[in-house]
Amino acid sequence: MEKPIVTDGDAVLRDKAQPVSEKEFGTDELQALLTDLSDTLRVAPNGVAIAAPQIGVSKQIFVVRGFIMAERMRHDPESDSITDVAFINPKIVRASRKKERFDEGCLSVPGVYGTIVRSHQVTVQAQDVTGTPFEVNAAGLLAEIFQHEIDHLEGVLFIDNAEEAYKTENHEA
Ligand code: ZN
Repeated sequence: MEKPIVTDGDAVLRDKAQPVSEKEFGTDELQALLTDLSDTLRVAPNGVAIAAPQIGVSKQIFVVRGFIMAERMRHDPESDSITDVAFINPKIVRASRKKERFDEGCLSVPGVYGTIVRSHQVTVQAQDVTGTPFEVNAAGLLAEIFQHEIDHLEGVLFIDNAEEAYKTENHEA
């Protein structure tokens, strides 16, 4: 079910999110939370990823839209059949020394964009809804998304580290 997106100023965005515990994996409650995140993301204009604190739930979870993951996996980006991918208890286990500048926005900081320097490439380890571990290596946009979302789980917003943040009339991201 679609949930309201929490915006900058709400304390939940500044909390360190709690890990999902072993007994939560495979439960209907966890699946329902992933569905809520996906449903909320789908109606957010230009939304590509969302972290659980952004719907007010302080848990270490983020969800990436299927078409973004598909691009990386070289599937047809137009395909609607690729489902969103949930990352539970995610950790960056490798980050390239090579950096890249990204123009970034955030669903929780509407109308504000900024330039931020992040690693060009990262490897993320996480668990799926059943608790099974998996690992994804990504560069460019997907690496940026992973770093942005994991920052959310640490209580960090992109505006904390952006070189220049600017307001625009465009409220899409
Ligand atoms: Zn964000």
